[in-house]
Amino acid sequence: MNNADVVVIGSGIGGLSCAALLARYGFDVIVCESHAIAGGAAHAFERDGFKFDSGPSLYSGLSYTPSANPLRQVLDAIAEDLNWVTYDTWGCCLPEGDFDTTVGADQFCEVLSRLRGQDAVAEWRQLQRVMTPLAQAAVAIPPAAVRYDLGATITAGQFALSMARHAPHILKLTGAFSQIMNGVVRDPFICNWLDLLCFLLSGLPANGTSAAEMAFMFADWYRPGVVLDYPVGGSGAIVDALVRGLQKHGGQLMLNAHVEQVLVENHQATGVRLRNSKEIRARRAVISNASVWDTLKLLKETALPKSFQQQRAETPECDSFMHLHLGIDAQGLRSDLACHHIIVNDWERGVTADQNVVVVSIPSILDPSLAPPGKHVIHVYTPGNEPYALWQGMNRNSQEYQQQKQARSEVMWQALERIIPDVRSRCDLTLVGTPLTHERFLRRHRGSYGPAIPAGKGFFPGSTTPLKGLLCCGDSTFPGIGLPAVAASGMITANTLAPVSKHLQMLRDINW
Ligand SMILES: Cc1cc2nc3c(=O)[nH]c(=O)nc-3n(C[C@H](O)[C@H](O)[C@H](O)COP(=O)(O)OP(=O)(O)OC[C@H]3O[C@@H](n4cnc5c(N)ncnc54)[C@H](O)[C@@H]3O)c2cc1C
Repeated sequence: MNNADVVVIGSGIGGLSCAALLARYGFDVIVCESHAIAGGAAHAFERDGFKFDSGPSLYSGLSYTPSANPLRQVLDAIAEDLNWVTYDTWGCCLPEGDFDTTVGADQFCEVLSRLRGQDAVAEWRQLQRVMTPLAQAAVAIPPAAVRYDLGATITAGQFALSMARHAPHILKLTGAFSQIMNGVVRDPFICNWLDLLCFLLSGLPANGTSAAEMAFMFADWYRPGVVLDYPVGGSGAIVDALVRGLQKHGGQLMLNAHVEQVLVENHQATGVRLRNSKEIRARRAVISNASVWDTLKLLKETALPKSFQQQRAETPECDSFMHLHLGIDAQGLRSDLACHHIIVNDWERGVTADQNVVVVSIPSILDPSLAPPGKHVIHVYTPGNEPYALWQGMNRNSQEYQQQKQARSEVMWQALERIIPDVRSRCDLTLVGTPLTHERFLRRHRGSYGPAIPAGKGFFPGSTTPLKGLLCCGDSTFPGIGLPAVAASGMITANTLAPVSKHLQMLRDINW
């Protein structure tokens, strides 16, 4: 039987951020990961010399420090870094036409002027003016300073003055972004555009996305000199950096270690039982990085109050994904092809409609080492808009499944053909993923993107639970979905267990 101070269930970016930081704080930590590869939704995998990102690839605020991005703060805290390629342009294929745009405010105004005229530009500028103080408020207190106990009066209390200065704006951040947007924006294209950005951030349109999340994005994407960051080696390099940080501080990562049950004794979480019946005892805490629904499955019915379980089980969920992972011949392709593209088929259907929005990422444009010479690695996906119900209960070996796979992936091929018209004839390797693939490889309930908690109508819960010794982190906890958010949740959870003196030392070390 193994023992540790803390057992973390799951090695997503949330779990690894939490575990690496706990190890830095001096805790003896074991991470149990069900999959053979660490990283959860952000894991990388290799086939025939092509290195694929299974999920995320769009990042910012990571290539410099100090940064408001909580993931950068975690990397700083564990003294890990990686090499970043920076770039600023991404491609858009919208009902209005195809164009490249850059992060930063000025070029987008050129696009607006061309597509919608000067009134639209004036509206955008006005929105930026409205968002500026909100953006400052959104970063007034670094997540690194937050913890869920009285120690927060000291660690976060240091930022009280700055928060007081931003107090009127902080209140506005708690509502939905649409409340701010609707007060400023009339132009239908800008409304659609903002809805799209919201959907890509949170899985919900502007009326469900929190103003804080968008303010954070405005602070990041529309500051002078802004760039996007891609990690050399692919998204797996971020996972590797967190694992290095964990291990150099004495923590352990166990792969193929599926947790079947959280052990509870005397109303306290005391460890975990793995699928192979092995038990690992946790002297201080068990932290679940699994989704809210998957975490409940690990607990006996009597472990938590019924009302709490019911409330958590009823958390609304975002839909799932279709994926295409391709290895293609890159000969003769445009040399200025952008890495990321977003395709919207029909604004009228709304950005959350299935088969309507597609995302394309070609990261070997930024880091050629991800593909063999003369090749590109491509990930196309429908972002959190594929209904799981269409796939539920299907036999993956059946003809029906194969046919549905082909039919439902067609929208991704067509989107990609807007960028690389002859892509089908260029493929050396084609992998099609469905919500069942997503569910299986990511060990995620119904292959969901995460909780769909509309801003203004509910809050992502904090990391503590009514069961002593059981905490949670990751995209089912505050502040929500996306790498910056889950890194923040991991950090806040680790801080909650750490002595205040060590927490303060960490803040000094990362220059906050
Ligand atoms: C296709 C796609 C594209 C995305 N693009 C972006 C992007 O560009 N930028 C961005 O910031 N975000 C993006 N996201 C969102 C981001 O990737 C996720 O929000 C984030 O990675 C979730 O991290 P997590 O730690 O909360 O959970 P997860 O990554 O889901 O990790 C949970 C881990 O727990 C493990 N686990 C579950 N149950 C058990 C068990 N019983 N025993 C042991 N282990 C278990 C799982 O195997 C998994 O490794 C994207 C997501 C997807 C799917």
